[in-house]
Amino acid sequence: MSEVAWQECINPACGAKVDVEDQSFACPKCGGLMDVKYEWKLIPVPKRMKEFANRWGQRNEPLNFSGVWRFRELLRFAPEKDMVTLGEGQTILQNARGLADYVDVEPHNIFLQYEGLNPSGSFKDNGMAGAFTHAKMVGAKKVACASTGNTSAAVALFASAAQMKAVVFIGSGKIAFGKLAQALDYGAKTIQIEGDFDVCMQRVQQVAGKLGLYMMNSINPFRLEGQKTIMYRVMEGLNWQVPDWIICPGGNLGNSSSFGKAFLELRKLKLIDRVPRLAVINAAGADTLYRLVEKEGMKWNDGACDPELEQRFFEQMDAEKRGAKTLASAIEINRPVNLPKCLRALAVCDGLVRTVSEEEILDAKAMVGRTGLGCEPASAASVAGLRQLRGEGIIGKNEKVVCILTGHALKDPNVTVDYHKEENLGAMEKYQRVGVKKVSFANRPVLVADDLEEIIKAVQE
Ligand SMILES: *Cc1c(COP(=O)(O)O)cnc(C)c1O
Ligand SMILES: [Zn+2]
Repeated sequence: MSEVAWQECINPACGAKVDVEDQSFACPKCGGLMDVKYEWKLIPVPKRMKEFANRWGQRNEPLNFSGVWRFRELLRFAPEKDMVTLGEGQTILQNARGLADYVDVEPHNIFLQYEGLNPSGSFKDNGMAGAFTHAKMVGAKKVACASTGNTSAAVALFASAAQMKAVVFIGSGKIAFGKLAQALDYGAKTIQIEGDFDVCMQRVQQVAGKLGLYMMNSINPFRLEGQKTIMYRVMEGLNWQVPDWIICPGGNLGNSSSFGKAFLELRKLKLIDRVPRLAVINAAGADTLYRLVEKEGMKWNDGACDPELEQRFFEQMDAEKRGAKTLASAIEINRPVNLPKCLRALAVCDGLVRTVSEEEILDAKAMVGRTGLGCEPASAASVAGLRQLRGEGIIGKNEKVVCILTGHALKDPNVTVDYHKEENLGAMEKYQRVGVKKVSFANRPVLVADDLEEIIKAVQE
């Protein structure tokens, strides 16, 4: 076993360890989730976060240019020769002054971390840099995933960088157009199954088992290692300060889990002296985390997080046939695979969970677009969540807040065009299904005859 890095069951009461090269991604003793762990004494971790900035000057070095591998001492599970990069993580923390009134936060304190700027247009690329590196290290040739869209786009893209073959499983119907376009264009074998995400997940696992495919879904702990770097870059954008709040959407809960692990480790390494608070935002139509944490009082509890409560909850969900239902397809998930890890993150970061409605998501998305960056629907849940938490008085007007914009504005162009163009959005079947009635910030295109005076009039109106 490598002495520098290994995999370990996240439940301290179990604590089973396996080699860093293992690729089953489940605890051999209890079946639980695995962490990547490090013997920090054997890794030359800088004394201060600031020292990572020295790599900025060497942007012709792919590993220093990468927004993931620039921080490689903090995720040192593979040798440098195996590190896969496509220039991911060139993302920005933007002081979004234009959004200040909408979310009621002081203009100098509201920030958006735009992960849509990644090569495949979502934060998933950070994770794929990690997971493909692990895949390369263990000699994988073929990889697979099930996806609501962005994971398949990222897997398809990184497979070419790592010279591997990719198979992606997608449910029929429910994928945003931009995302399907990417899987096809990047050359992945794309299997559309008649069924939803859960069906795809089950099938891909069966197929991967039989054909020996390397799994790229977010139970893969090496993905979460890559996603830790989003938090390092947020700190970089704040001149290595820790903000008061991090707010992100919650789907399969990989991102929130990785943020918690990032801060847990930084604190242990004494690279920070405090952690931010974390707010995870569910869509109201896919609110498992919210119900479990805020209604049922489920807690991390040092790994003893009440499996009976969890089992009862999911049995009831099945009995009521309560399926996930939201336009924010990237968070349309009712069985989040990283639930226990997210509970740990909430414990580390004194976190909380909220839900936002479809209208709140769509309106927040339009405001993010109008004030400069744009994002896909799921990403806007973070901004809608902030607005709600300000309304409740839980976040102070003067606190420094970072919302994570997880995906690019062009991922789901249909929703954007419908929002601005359709006079009666609520009457369309797709929007009726999720209960959208009225949206507030439509920017309607102006139809005008080909007549100079009419056109001038329309421009001036
Ligand atoms: C995957 C994804 C999410 C959900 O993130 P989790 O880590 O699964 O909670 C949110 N937004 C976008 C754009 C995504 O692609
Ligand atoms: Zn275990």
